[in-house]
Amino acid sequence: MTLGDSAATGLRLEQTGDGGHNNSSSIFPTAAPFARAPGRRVRSRLCNLLATTLSADVLHYELIVVGAGAAGLIAAARAAELGKRTLLLEKNRKPGVKILISGGTRCNLTHDCDARGIVAAFGSAGPFLNSALARLGPRDVVELFHAEGVPTYVEAGTGKVFPLSDRALDVANALVRRLRRSGAELALGEPVTRIERIEGEERARFRVTTPLRSLTAAKLLVAVGGKSYAGCGTTGDGYRWLAELGHTIRPPRPALVPLTSDAAWVRELSGIAIPDMVLRVAPSDPARPVKRVRGLPPGVLIERRGAVLFTHTGLSGPTPLDVSREVTKAGDPRDVVLLADFFPDVPAEKLAEQLREAAERDGKKFVVGLVPDVLPRRLVEALFVQAEVPIDRRAAEFGKAERARVVEALKRGRIPVSGSRGFDKAEVTAGGVALDEVDSRTMESKLVPGLYLAGEILDLDGFIGGYNFQAAFSTGLLAAESL
Ligand SMILES: Cc1cc2nc3c(=O)[nH]c(=O)nc-3n(C[C@H](O)[C@H](O)[C@H](O)COP(=O)(O)OP(=O)(O)OC[C@H]3O[C@@H](n4cnc5c(N)ncnc54)[C@H](O)[C@@H]3O)c2cc1C
Repeated sequence: MTLGDSAATGLRLEQTGDGGHNNSSSIFPTAAPFARAPGRRVRSRLCNLLATTLSADVLHYELIVVGAGAAGLIAAARAAELGKRTLLLEKNRKPGVKILISGGTRCNLTHDCDARGIVAAFGSAGPFLNSALARLGPRDVVELFHAEGVPTYVEAGTGKVFPLSDRALDVANALVRRLRRSGAELALGEPVTRIERIEGEERARFRVTTPLRSLTAAKLLVAVGGKSYAGCGTTGDGYRWLAELGHTIRPPRPALVPLTSDAAWVRELSGIAIPDMVLRVAPSDPARPVKRVRGLPPGVLIERRGAVLFTHTGLSGPTPLDVSREVTKAGDPRDVVLLADFFPDVPAEKLAEQLREAAERDGKKFVVGLVPDVLPRRLVEALFVQAEVPIDRRAAEFGKAERARVVEALKRGRIPVSGSRGFDKAEVTAGGVALDEVDSRTMESKLVPGLYLAGEILDLDGFIGGYNFQAAFSTGLLAAESL
């Protein structure tokens, strides 16, 4: 029967209603046909469902997966391939909505590196991913998509892996195709509203409620993502369920998000793009003790090198997005400061020397003209103003103290930040289910037997570059194989 027809994926899902594991004499009632046939109204689906559920007390599955995103799609397919009677519930009327909009609709599905590179992109939480990456590393993800007829390429200079077609749609379709073959059932447009634990029941440990019906499952995988880009269906539903089941939820906060600044001089630079610079986040009070981060100078919370874009609200582009997790972590964003190094390959002393020599060579020049012209003039002028050096000062009058202030602005320029653009503009959610409550070798909850977690619902957030999809695929697959 036709299970689904997604306008977004362009795929028609053809599946048997029993997921290939059922027959009429089974103790489990047959699952209802879910997805929309073209032109049919949701109301008729509802009638079908009611008719089916009325004929049985409750539908039972060996596994219910909640959320048909990157983690849920791969997990449901794999579990069904391994013989589990699996139902995948998705609130949207299309599967993989976030995949479709990802990477500017190109979907950066992983990164061209080894497992260690992926681990490093998740900061101190990274080692949690070791087992999942041992099972499905970045090269395995590439192979997986190649096997589904989606060749990929590595973007020069960034290491990002994209489908050769540059179409996120192909990535989503590949996952849906595999799901279809696996025999898992997919229920679209059916949000889970409640999850309960059934005490003392081995066969049916969980009750899952949707507006259409009540279901039971021996095992449950929650893969509902975080709470950013809520329009994609990710409204943070999982946090409440999991807190009710006893899990600690580390406060969700926006990550990979543009930063805002109240400073007029920053906003006035809107439109300027710097292709290569370093941003560091540090406590605004240098006396505040911070835990030393391996590989970073003392007092620095995070450091990234790459492109920065000044916008009418603050800073965007990959580098501000990558460091944003430390800004949103601060209770008050003013507790941290953004330090900009516009000449990452030139030590401060050398830059000071270059400025002195340039001033000596041409004393009549305006001081702003002494700065190597790789930086836009508008930015250089703003930095001189911040350094309290008049931009119409002649090079011959450029004193040592002023030079030192300019070097400070160019190498450790303080860019005031007032916060972030919030969950609406955050590509991922930092925070989530505490990792020490989840067995990283299986993705099973340490508190609730039979409960599994995968993807962004976990307290994991990686840099831009395909790392977040990689984590979702790896944790989803590991969970499915550990059930
Ligand atoms: C604009 C944008 C661009 C991005 N680009 C990239 C990129 O190029 N590369 C990369 O690695 N990462 C990217 N990301 C991040 C990446 O999309 C996520 O990290 C990844 O999708 C997480 O996968 P997931 O399966 O955990 O959750 P999701 O993909 O978010 O899927 C969760 C699913 O659960 C469903 N759901 C939620 N609540 C319920 C409920 N109550 N009942 C039923 N279903 C529910 C949601 O509708 C959703 O479909 C991007 C994110 C955004 C917002």
